[in-house]
Amino acid sequence: MGVFLAILNAKAEGAGRVVMAVDPRNTSRRCPECGHTAKENRPTREKFHCVSCGHTAHADTVGAINVLRAGLVRREAQPA
Ligand SMILES: [Zn+2]
Repeated sequence: MGVFLAILNAKAEGAGRVVMAVDPRNTSRRCPECGHTAKENRPTREKFHCVSCGHTAHADTVGAINVLRAGLVRREAQPA
């Protein structure tokens, strides 16, 4: 954990919150329905269309879901 994140964490804990570093790679390429990850899932900047299962959504929505899930997984793996 870098110094910046350590400071951010300390401040967040003081405020009663938990901050987690989430790897942003692939968060907007991974299908929230089936987990298929491919750059082809993003035909345009705004659009998400899974080439595996056909799931469609706004790219920002997919990214937000994946970041949230990645955070929850880390939290379960490393209980405070
Ligand atoms: Zn899919």
